[in-house]
Amino acid sequence: MSDNATTTQSRARPTIAVIGAGVSGACISMQLSAYETDIVLLDREADVSFGVSKANSGIIHGGFHHSPRYLKTRLEIRGNQMFDRLQRELDFPFLRCGILVVALSDEEMKYIDHLYTQGVANGAIGIEMCSRERMFELEPKLNSDCVGGLHAPGGGVIEPYRFVFSVVESACKNGVQLMTDFNVVAAERRNDRHVIHAQDGRVVQADYVVNAAGLHADEVSRLFRAEEFTISPRKGEYYLLDRMTKAAPQRVLFPVPTRISKGMLVIPTAEGTVLIGPTAQEIQDKSDLSTNAEQLNQIFDQARKMIPVVSQTDVIAAFSGLRPALQDADFYIDISQQAPNLIQVAGIQSPGLTAAPAIGEYVKDLLKKAGCRLTEKSDYDPSVTKVPRIRDFRPFEADELLQSNPAYGNLVCRCETISEAEVVEAIRRGHTTLDGIKYYTRAQMGRCQGGFCTYRIIKLIMRETGMDYDQITKRGRGSVVLSGRL
Ligand SMILES: Cc1cc2nc3c(=O)[nH]c(=O)nc-3n(C[C@H](O)[C@H](O)[C@H](O)COP(=O)(O)OP(=O)(O)OC[C@H]3O[C@@H](n4cnc5c(N)ncnc54)[C@H](O)[C@@H]3O)c2cc1C
Repeated sequence: MSDNATTTQSRARPTIAVIGAGVSGACISMQLSAYETDIVLLDREADVSFGVSKANSGIIHGGFHHSPRYLKTRLEIRGNQMFDRLQRELDFPFLRCGILVVALSDEEMKYIDHLYTQGVANGAIGIEMCSRERMFELEPKLNSDCVGGLHAPGGGVIEPYRFVFSVVESACKNGVQLMTDFNVVAAERRNDRHVIHAQDGRVVQADYVVNAAGLHADEVSRLFRAEEFTISPRKGEYYLLDRMTKAAPQRVLFPVPTRISKGMLVIPTAEGTVLIGPTAQEIQDKSDLSTNAEQLNQIFDQARKMIPVVSQTDVIAAFSGLRPALQDADFYIDISQQAPNLIQVAGIQSPGLTAAPAIGEYVKDLLKKAGCRLTEKSDYDPSVTKVPRIRDFRPFEADELLQSNPAYGNLVCRCETISEAEVVEAIRRGHTTLDGIKYYTRAQMGRCQGGFCTYRIIKLIMRETGMDYDQITKRGRGSVVLSGRL
């Protein structure tokens, strides 16, 4: 054991810096918050979940897509099982609605055979090979060309950003210190500790560091003089369909996968809208979230092969997300062999959202292996206070809520039925950008995409925080929404 490890091992309360407040860093921090440690969670953005974790399919995968030889498969299966408990403890939408893989030919049915065998080998609970009749019983809207498929009842959908917000809330309740706008630009070793420098001059010292920096994990690894690897962005574009669409399926629909992706899906989201996509396109620029008509047209063609009633008139938005892909298809989660007391959490592409709670456990075990002393807290309580949402209440129940807080009676976002009370709660919990409030409450996510409510939300941010209108941003630095004199 090195002198380093001896020194940090003997420290009673180790300090751990987690770089990246996406779903991986959030779940790692929450897991570690159950132990006597000092944890700082650092992110370069203005709020949590503003990286890869904000734009994905939101699927809790069913454990049959990947071979059992991968670490990601084991973490997917374990992560999936953890979501019921997490839903009870935290506050995020989650539906275990199940997944169907749709075969449109006998050739595709052979691949379904393979997925079934793989799922069984992985330990996916309840998966079922389906005849054509069974597929139509499970999803009557399917294309009549369907010849059969696979049913994975353990799959589901969550709202990914709401999940991250809630996990971070739980972590902070248990002592984690969140530092946003903390762009890590340099790191050095001093007195057996890591000294981490932010672009704005702030400095954090830590005994252990977890690199969970998503698309930028390769650059962060370099700052710590650790392993050399390359993260290449792979873009996925989506269309979001209105909640009134006739195309809404009851379960997540997958086509038979291709070599590089799971294909383009039809997804009933946890909040009642429908997503179709994503595409899979290798790109160079890690900040390129543009969408283009050619890619988007492919989505319609593919989605209609499964659900013919998918219609362009239901589209309310298009957006894209970037998969943080490594050359190797697996996750890279390990103790660094080159930098002391550094854990690498890189290449977390799909099924990273599903696996994240299990990634938290896995990293905790790696830290122990690296010599970090982790003593359980006696008073650990992960639960967070659930925020009432006016649209979940029936009229007679809403009366009681309105009496306790009349701001529930003032609808800020009509499309998604979000009240002033919910927006104010989001602001008071630290979400003061337009996107932060959107992801926390869903206000601006409906059919009008913020046309009605953005101005009202700006006024509420100004009232609650004392900020001036020209300080309010869409998503932090460089995104001021109003300038000049009103
Ligand atoms: C199109 C698409 C669809 C997907 N669908 C699914 C799905 O349905 N189900 C599923 O299980 N998975 C899915 N995934 C995968 C899942 O979204 C990712 O695995 C997961 O979000 C990765 O989370 P992360 O925390 O590792 O990365 P991120 O969310 O990117 O978090 C990393 C954080 O690090 C911060 N950071 C970076 N550099 C620095 C720095 N220098 N200093 C400080 N902070 C820094 C970033 O701001 C960011 O917030 C999908 C991904 C994509 C792109």
